[in-house]
Amino acid sequence: MRWWSKLIVILAIALAGYTFYLGMWNWRDARRETRQALRKSQAAVNKAAGVKRQPDSGSLEFARQCRSNLQAIETAKRKFAQESGRVAGNVTWEEIMPYLPQKGPLACPSVGKYTLNPLGTVCSCSIGANYGHGTDDDHIIQGF
Ligand SMILES: [Zn+2]
Repeated sequence: MRWWSKLIVILAIALAGYTFYLGMWNWRDARRETRQALRKSQAAVNKAAGVKRQPDSGSLEFARQCRSNLQAIETAKRKFAQESGRVAGNVTWEEIMPYLPQKGPLACPSVGKYTLNPLGTVCSCSIGANYGHGTDDDHIIQGF
């Protein structure tokens, strides 16, 4: 081989390596940008649809939190009944709000809807006990 053909081979390898190096960075950037754009558009879609969290009514932790919320609501209803002297009839969130631990309405983490129910009837979550894995995933008040 002549000296200049060796030089051309070396230059070609160097150029290929450099191109590959640049390409790797561009590819990584492009992937990151795509991911960010996807996340942003998903967030926008969720916001538009009013979705705060993916409903996961089978989740045991959500069910546990929901039962704890229901107990807090029922406790508040009973305190309100005691202090107001009322024993029956409907109650409103405004009436029981002062007796809730955080002084505001409670929400089911699985996006169930709470019904206060009249005094003397325990409050309920729209998810209820329909999932059939024992009582651990039930959104119902227990032991009240
Ligand atoms: Zn619930």
